[in-house]
Amino acid sequence: MRHIPGAWHRTAAGAGLVGADGSIRPTIFAEMSALAAETGAINLGQGFPDEDGPVEVLEAAREAIAHGVNQYPPGRGIPDLLSAVAEHQERFYGLHLDPARDVLVTAGATEALAATLLALIDGSDDEVVVFEPYYDSYAAVVALAGARLVTVPLRWPDFQPDLDDLRRAVGDRTRAILVNDPHNPTGAVFAAEVRDEIVRLAERHDAIIVTDEVYEHLVFDGPHVPIATLPGAWDRTLTISSGGKTFSTTGWKIGWVTGPADLVSAVLAVKQFLTYVNGSAFQPAIATGLRLGDGFYRRIADELRTKRDLLGAGLRAAGFEVSTPAGSYFTVADARRLGATDASAFCRELPERAGVVAIPLTAFATPGRRAEYATLVRFAACKRVEVLEEAASRLAAAQ
Ligand code: GLN
Repeated sequence: MRHIPGAWHRTAAGAGLVGADGSIRPTIFAEMSALAAETGAINLGQGFPDEDGPVEVLEAAREAIAHGVNQYPPGRGIPDLLSAVAEHQERFYGLHLDPARDVLVTAGATEALAATLLALIDGSDDEVVVFEPYYDSYAAVVALAGARLVTVPLRWPDFQPDLDDLRRAVGDRTRAILVNDPHNPTGAVFAAEVRDEIVRLAERHDAIIVTDEVYEHLVFDGPHVPIATLPGAWDRTLTISSGGKTFSTTGWKIGWVTGPADLVSAVLAVKQFLTYVNGSAFQPAIATGLRLGDGFYRRIADELRTKRDLLGAGLRAAGFEVSTPAGSYFTVADARRLGATDASAFCRELPERAGVVAIPLTAFATPGRRAEYATLVRFAACKRVEVLEEAASRLAAAQ
């Protein structure tokens, strides 16, 4: 292979995507969706819904396009969406934001995460603490930014971090603690004492807390609690979310960062040279979604809870042990009783064996820690009920 200098290698290596021959592999989600398309298997791998979201939101985007909202929006986002995000944070969490200063619209949570970490990280001495298993872009972006990834393990079956592990991971080199709650891939919602300890440690070591709350409305046991609402947290917390999961518009890529104006401005400084702006016609549509009534928000959590229960029961009936998630699209199951010893091999064989695609948990872990997740598999519940039922019966038949 030709030698190509640059940060690509560090980034791909950070995400574990460089093959033995130096080639770059696609992300696990792209790979598994391609496998589903190739084999005709049911795709419970990549987390995207197979139904459209609220018609008001879809209609608002059509309207915007029809009315010429097709050119660059302002760099921070359209004022109406900045206001809608601020109203949302007040309505659900009691946070008072200045829409003109404390909110920034991004190209999905993915760009928000990248711009935030690139903005905050100063060099190779900086450490970013993440909870492992972690969403794949975290390690890639930390590597791109040239910092060191420090992981805190989440362990089967409840996936709550051990507080001593957490205390050991955070130190004076910690630039940021990156918290994904509700958590992908495990579906865990962090306990109050975990959230409190994160804030205490960030204060003690003068670290920034970055939260990824894209599943904030997909929680099954009660209201979501953003870390930014905890005493002492606001001044050092950047909160990230997006409209993809809440409104079933994962392809629109409208996300946002909220927090104290100086931190948000630092993110803006980087973001404006990544995408500059995106999704002019989708921004008013997401603003419409954020203003939908409480009934909508209750309904999406209720519907996903029903799907979680259906998927969990199907997996148990098919011989898996199941960790019941408290939020997110995902359920983690242990395939040990089905003979799995290597989750990655198990998932590559599953389409042939059962006509179902899932994601190995090892894809969310650093190489040194993969043994711990070697029999664990992530299934997505964000599919139509009949699709989940069909997947359950295929898995049961394949035992
Ligand atoms: N967030 C989705 C998942 O975890 C996939 C997003 C992606 O393909 N990058 O499955």
